[in-house]
Amino acid sequence: MKCEVLVIGAGPAGSAAARTLAQNGVDVLLIDQHPLGRDKVCGDGLIPDAHAALRKLGLWNQVADQALHLPTLECIGPRGGQIKVPGQLAVLPRQVLDKLLCLGAQDAGVRFVSGVKFQSTIQDGSGSVCGAHVEINGNPHEINAKHVILATGAQSAALTAADLCERTAPSAVALRCYIEAPSLAADWQYMSIVWSQLIRPGYGWIFPGPNGIFNVGIGLFNQQKLNKKTKPATSHKYLSLKNQGHAREHEPQRRLGNLRNIFERFIEQHPPLVTLLQQGKIISEVKGAPLRCGLTGARWSRPGLLAIGDAIGSTYAFTGEGIGKAMETGILAAEALIKARQQNHSPTQTCLQYEQGLHALLPQFNSYARANSVNEYPWLVDVVIWRAQKSPRLRQSIASILSEQNNPGRLFTLKGVKRLLLD
Ligand SMILES: Cc1cc2nc3c(=O)[nH]c(=O)nc-3n(C[C@H](O)[C@H](O)[C@H](O)COP(=O)(O)OP(=O)(O)OC[C@H]3O[C@@H](n4cnc5c(N)ncnc54)[C@H](O)[C@@H]3O)c2cc1C
Repeated sequence: MKCEVLVIGAGPAGSAAARTLAQNGVDVLLIDQHPLGRDKVCGDGLIPDAHAALRKLGLWNQVADQALHLPTLECIGPRGGQIKVPGQLAVLPRQVLDKLLCLGAQDAGVRFVSGVKFQSTIQDGSGSVCGAHVEINGNPHEINAKHVILATGAQSAALTAADLCERTAPSAVALRCYIEAPSLAADWQYMSIVWSQLIRPGYGWIFPGPNGIFNVGIGLFNQQKLNKKTKPATSHKYLSLKNQGHAREHEPQRRLGNLRNIFERFIEQHPPLVTLLQQGKIISEVKGAPLRCGLTGARWSRPGLLAIGDAIGSTYAFTGEGIGKAMETGILAAEALIKARQQNHSPTQTCLQYEQGLHALLPQFNSYARANSVNEYPWLVDVVIWRAQKSPRLRQSIASILSEQNNPGRLFTLKGVKRLLLD
């Protein structure tokens, strides 16, 4: 097989890159190990950055037609205090979203082939990547390409095989299940984020989706820090949770076991979830997956190869939002390749061009990393919620974080809370 650009991984990052390239006349082959419409473990929440990226791709209308739109985010603190802030939010299961994105890429002219598993890169005499060794039905094949984009998500195997991995451990691990409760859907017009002493450092969520089906989950952040403290697992005894094979690298069974245990307690103890379970039923397995955050943990590129999305940690620490940012990095990589084509850039110049785009995003990522302290010290949320209950201005300020017009590092940090208390 041969193409101008080979995109490996048909998640939001890969499909966004592929569609952008094909819209600009580039011959693109998009491959994925799984068939179209695979299920990706996710909260399925689409916040304004994802809406903006989808608009840029020209796919927002298709997504908006199928998503559930919600006007409010509810934040619940460990002491039970809560605020509701306005937001333009939407929820669409990843099975549907990723299929729409991949079909969108194919509509633009991308060739998509599933059941193709990336094994390693092919290099030319100068060391530049010029294709990939892949496996199809257990048989080895080669794909030759002028450029390769790696969009294989948060699992580190492909990153390692592409010689880009700097850290195999994920930044966070999270799990979710679907609960069908149509009788509650009409009144549940908000996404809930729940901070609790149970889920530290992290949070839980309840996101109502289309057809009365709720996405419920928890995530634990700062996993790199925890890795230093924890010993390898010797056993796990919890739910029959399906591990997507992700965090196999660093004592993940223990971490996932802990996560399952916490999740069981969360759904038994959080009153809205108790209601949800009384009036509805769990209709999926509880599945876990890793997240890579803060644009850390991997090299962003090497000559001939650009990595995008969760593979380079494009998910925000603190909130775990990654769909929008994955598409943004995909579009950035595509734009760098389009420029390279127009201006005859060398592979090294192309890497530089792409990395400059990522560097411009770093301050925002760092701000989310600072705000991540909230997940370690959930009492900070209690203070912010307590103040915000009395202050429409503060609620507005929190709302503007959702649309990225405000910086979470200013509010959800020890410094930010100190400022709030002294104000
Ligand atoms: C439990 C959980 C909840 C989350 N909730 C939200 C949320 O509500 N909102 C939000 O914005 N973000 C959320 N995220 C983050 C979001 O899921 C990711 O940021 C996003 O999926 C990243 O997209 P991606 O395209 O980089 O990777 P992925 O979506 O993971 O896609 C990678 C693709 O690469 C393919 N692939 C991998 N290896 C190979 C290989 N060797 N060969 C061929 N193909 C391969 C995979 O099959 C997959 O299709 C959540 C994450 C988790 C784990």
